[in-house]
Amino acid sequence: MASFLDFFLPRRCVVCGAGGELLCHGCGGALTRLGAPRCERCGAPTTWPVERCRECSGRRIAFAHARAAVEYDDAAKRLVGAWKERGLRSLAEVAAEIVVGVVSRPDAYTITFIPADHNRFLERGHNPAKRLAVELGTRWQLPVVPLLRRAPGVAAQRGLSLAERRRNVRGIFEASRPAPRTLVLVDDVYTSGATVSAAATALRKAGARRVEVLTFARAVRS
Ligand SMILES: [Zn+2]
Ligand SMILES: [Zn+2]
Repeated sequence: MASFLDFFLPRRCVVCGAGGELLCHGCGGALTRLGAPRCERCGAPTTWPVERCRECSGRRIAFAHARAAVEYDDAAKRLVGAWKERGLRSLAEVAAEIVVGVVSRPDAYTITFIPADHNRFLERGHNPAKRLAVELGTRWQLPVVPLLRRAPGVAAQRGLSLAERRRNVRGIFEASRPAPRTLVLVDDVYTSGATVSAAATALRKAGARRVEVLTFARAVRS
């Protein structure tokens, strides 16, 4: 259904509403790219390059490092919102093009992704993280392998505080098969990093030695 609507509805920019493209040239160009300098570990923008930053120092992080293409500001939120809730599949292509323009090809042989929350997956019928992973796999010529599933009986993250989220996500994922040594873990948005860290923990238990996180957008704390 989503692809049907995608095809027949007149295209409008999901950020400003201008007719023509799903993301117009102006709005696409105005998204804040997250280049250097940054925190080497969690990818937060910093004034100069650092190994760990205020946001991630002292925290146990199971991934080697995290990179994101754009800041999760109002425009990026609109884009990701349309992509998630309205099921505009071509937005995954738009997002992937932006990612490959900002982030260099990871040094890994396999891409995997955060699995959809089961209920939300049923509501929407698609998983943006998976779609982005597939689009990136095509562009970087890397195989995309589903490796994770949600462990049964863990509450959803929606509506929880940052501290509650961090506590809640431990043990939320499990690997469904042995993981390769190095891999890229894709999600749509990096907020606290708790979700991708929990997923990286599950992947490392399944044999991964190095997990690189890659997201389209990243929340930036002021
Ligand atoms: Zn626009
Ligand atoms: Zn950091």
